[in-house]
Amino acid sequence: MSDVRNVIIIGSGPAGYTAGIYTARANLKPLMFEGIQPGGQLMITTDVENYPGFPEGVEGPHLMELFKKQAERFGTETMTQNVDKVDFSKRPFRVWSEGKEYAAQTIIVATGATAKLIGLESEQKLMGYGVSACATCDGFFFKDKDVCIVGGGDTAMEEANFLTRFAKKVHVIHRRSELRASKIMQQRAMANPKIDFIWNTEVIEVLDPAKKSIEALRLRDTVTGAVTVRPTEGLFVAIGHQPNTKIFEGQLATNDVGYLVTTQTTRTSVDGVFACGDVMDPVWRQAITAAGTGCAAAIDAERWLEAHGDH
Ligand code: NAP
Repeated sequence: MSDVRNVIIIGSGPAGYTAGIYTARANLKPLMFEGIQPGGQLMITTDVENYPGFPEGVEGPHLMELFKKQAERFGTETMTQNVDKVDFSKRPFRVWSEGKEYAAQTIIVATGATAKLIGLESEQKLMGYGVSACATCDGFFFKDKDVCIVGGGDTAMEEANFLTRFAKKVHVIHRRSELRASKIMQQRAMANPKIDFIWNTEVIEVLDPAKKSIEALRLRDTVTGAVTVRPTEGLFVAIGHQPNTKIFEGQLATNDVGYLVTTQTTRTSVDGVFACGDVMDPVWRQAITAAGTGCAAAIDAERWLEAHGDH
C-alpha cells in the first residue's frame, strides 16, 4: 500500500477539479483519480453559455482543460485511471485502482452522472450504428439526415438545436404533451424551423438490429396506445442522467434514485467521506453548482482533518 494521503478525490468534472484546486491550495497534496475519460459531462458539451466569467461562452472541453491546469498548478496529483473498488468501513479509507491499493484519511467523491438510456434491447444493439446518447459527440455523422431525439428536458432541447447544425430535420419525441425544459430552451427549439415535435409518444423498438443499421422507429402513442413505424436515419436519447455510484453500493447511503445522500453540506453517511457535484445533486446539476459543491467538499475535508489532528 502507498502512503496514507490526506485526501483522495474520485472523479474529475467541475466538482472534482475544484476540490483539487482548494485542497491543493490548503497544502493537503490531493491525489485525484480522474477516471479513464477525464473531465465529466462537459467533455461532451459544445458551447457552455452559462458558466460565469465567460460572457462569450466557452467550449466544454476547453473549460475542463483550464480547470485541470489550475488544479495541477497548485499540486493536485492526477491519475487518468478508474477506481475499481473502495473500502470505507474503517480509516484510513482504501481505494483500489488498476490493481494497486491507495489509502487516505478523507475521500471526496465527485464521480458525476451518466446519460440514461430507454432500456430497449434494439437500442443497445444499434448503439454506435445510428443510436447515440450524445449529440455533441456524434451529431457530425448525421449530416443532411433525418433524425429523432427522445426527451423533453433541457438536454433534449439543447441537443435538438445542436443537431440542426448537421441534420436535415430533427423530430423531438416526447412521452407527454408538455415539455420539462426551461422556457428559454423550449422557445429556442420551437423557433428552429428544422425542429418539430411528436407528442405523447414513446419509442418501443429501434429497427433494424439484424441489419446493423437504423431504418425506423416503432412508436407507441401514450394516450391511444396506437403503434406506428416511422422511418428515420438516427436516434438520439436525451432523457436524463444516472448518478455514478456503483462502486459505493452498500458503503454510502443513496436516495431512491441513486444520488449520494449528503447532510451538513457535503458530508456523506460515512464520517470523513465527502461528496460533491452531480453524484449528490439531483436538483441543480449545473457546472457552476458542481464547482461550488467541489469547493465546499474541499473546505469540509480540510476542516475535518484539522478537527481530527490528521493533517
Ligand atoms: P430531465 O430534466 O430529467 O429531463 C428528462 C426528460 O426525459 C424528461 O422530459 C422526461 O420525461 C424524459 N424521460 C425520462 N425518462 C424517459 C424514458 N424512459 N422514456 C422517454 N422519455 C423519458 O433531464 P435533462 O434534460 O438531462 O436535464 C437535467 C438537468 O440539467 C436539468 O436541471 C436541466 O435544467 C439541466 N440542463 C441545463 C442545460 C442548460 O441550461 N444549457 C442543458 C442541459 C441540462 P417527463 O418530462 O415526462 O418526465
